[in-house]
Amino acid sequence: MRFADKRALVTGGGSGIGRATCYRLAREGAQIVVADLRAERAQETAQQITDEGGHAIALTADVSDATSVEGMAQGALDAFGAIDLLVNNAGIAEGDDLLTFDESTWDLNLAVVLKSVYLVSRQILPGMLERGSGAIVNVSSVNGLTAVGQEAYSAAKAGMINLTQNMAVKYGPQGVRVNVVCPGSVRTPIWDGIVAENPQIFEKLTRWYPLGRVGEAEDIAAAILFLASDDASWITGQALAVDGGLTAGIPGLLADVNTDAGKEKETS
Ligand code: NAP
Repeated sequence: MRFADKRALVTGGGSGIGRATCYRLAREGAQIVVADLRAERAQETAQQITDEGGHAIALTADVSDATSVEGMAQGALDAFGAIDLLVNNAGIAEGDDLLTFDESTWDLNLAVVLKSVYLVSRQILPGMLERGSGAIVNVSSVNGLTAVGQEAYSAAKAGMINLTQNMAVKYGPQGVRVNVVCPGSVRTPIWDGIVAENPQIFEKLTRWYPLGRVGEAEDIAAAILFLASDDASWITGQALAVDGGLTAGIPGLLADVNTDAGKEKETS
């Protein structure tokens, strides 16, 4: 029970990676605040945890809105007294090709993906600093590490990595660790729109993954729990790619190098 007596707040806890994270945290003893945009989705996660004998409450918040976040954070603190673990997970991914999407799409991605980390963290951090302990795990993406399209989303995800580093360095001396995971393609509802247009998308993407499959929400939850746990007590400010090896190298380049090397051998 790595998280016995810990109180965790997970944004976007009503779906996908956030939901899997809530379930795993609860199974390892944490009490959970499930925060999400849609009350019924947060409630479903909290109910499942309660049905399994755990302890969870559901709260509604738009993480891109300061007033909404303030209300949600107050609700969390009123219910649990304090938050020991924060997972900034809520996100959207809108728009591809900056020449085609409009300014509102840019602003929406930056607000939901990046500004949200600032808004939620500034509500929860003060309590952690007061107690001299806490862990924050942000959920970025491989899009924040390298160019794979969706420029507004990707720029916001890259911003999360720098924000993580700054928070880690600034608040580490006061006992708060801050890390970030960068998932590759993970089978969750965030893909629903793309899957509707391209049902074979995950099969197509699989060939880019050295480990031979795309990710599942549980793969990311496992990494989030590690970084949130005392097993990672000497780790802060790190970006952990959880991506089946996607960003470890360039397989096409490797294939070309090997082919060319083979040809050279043949001709020599
Ligand atoms: P998901 O199943 O769509 O979950 C995202 C959750 O965030 C949803 O419940 C969503 O609510 C909620 N949300 C969206 N906007 C919000 C807002 N303004 N305020 C509060 N909650 C909001 O997607 P997921 O794949 O689990 O995504 C979780 C995180 O992983 C995201 O940050 C995403 O960028 C990141 N990620 C995912 C992948 C992937 O391939 N799945 C890869 C890399 C990174 P609604 O459903 O109501 O919109």
